Amino acid sequence: MVQNQEPGRTAPEPSRPDRVSVHGGHSGQFCSHAVDPLDRVVAAYVEQGFRWVGITEHMPSARDSMLNPEERAEGLSALGTQERFGAYIEACRKLQTDRRDHIELFVAFEAEAYSDYEPFLESLLAKHQPDYIVGSVHHVGDVPFDVSRECYADAIAVAGDIETLYCDYFDLQYRLIRDFEPAVVGHFDLIRIFDPEYSQRLTPESVRIWDRVERNLHAVRDLGLILDFNVRALSKGQPEPYVTAPILQRACEMGIALVPGDDSHGVVSVGANVDRGGQMLAESGFSTQWQRPA
Ligand SMILES: [Zn+2]
Ligand SMILES: [Zn+2]
Repeated sequence: MVQNQEPGRTAPEPSRPDRVSVHGGHSGQFCSHAVDPLDRVVAAYVEQGFRWVGITEHMPSARDSMLNPEERAEGLSALGTQERFGAYIEACRKLQTDRRDHIELFVAFEAEAYSDYEPFLESLLAKHQPDYIVGSVHHVGDVPFDVSRECYADAIAVAGDIETLYCDYFDLQYRLIRDFEPAVVGHFDLIRIFDPEYSQRLTPESVRIWDRVERNLHAVRDLGLILDFNVRALSKGQPEPYVTAPILQRACEMGIALVPGDDSHGVVSVGANVDRGGQMLAESGFSTQWQRPA
């Protein structure tokens, strides 16, 4: 009999997984729908004992027609968001150095896919040299479908029907993965956001959609990318994080790494549900030796 334990010693409690966020740190300083200065957001991660955090501000707008409603309300132009983004990278690099004894920060950003975004994203990568990017799709048919129910309805109308909206979403995501190999794929199934019947669509029985899910997961695995286990979903009224259970199970079978992302948009949302997300991943059979994005 192999006996690794000293007599009389009980097995140690399984320790809590390290607190990390692969997708975090939007701040009111650099994002029109977030709050608080970036240094206070980072201080909150330090206080909560995070081991490492990818600061992943949204990418700026390529052109004025792609500005979000809240950026328009602030009177920002696309050029204005690009200048603000340059200031973000600079401030984040400084915090990375200043805070290195307390936390490991990655200077990253959340890339967006819409029509003709590719040259713009390439120029941002060349100019700013981030530590990594999160590849996210927030637009289908150039409609920002996750902004509101109304926007979601508009996106369905542009696509023709909801099944086609899902298919178009996963096709855009596939091209983003293939062309840019983002170290992290953000909220893989965000397209379900305002669909009360999403569990009927994100299932192997829904063949047209699921074929695309499978294709994208294979690309993620073949490239060794990480899926963002986006727990912000839980504080935004979703019954489960992104990704949904059937995709989570498939990713686990395929050996894909999932890592919690808090997708924080200010101090109060720093770390929200990250421990719960880590626990869910452990219970689902994933390693909690979190894969690092860079
Ligand atoms: Zn945001
Ligand atoms: Zn996002």
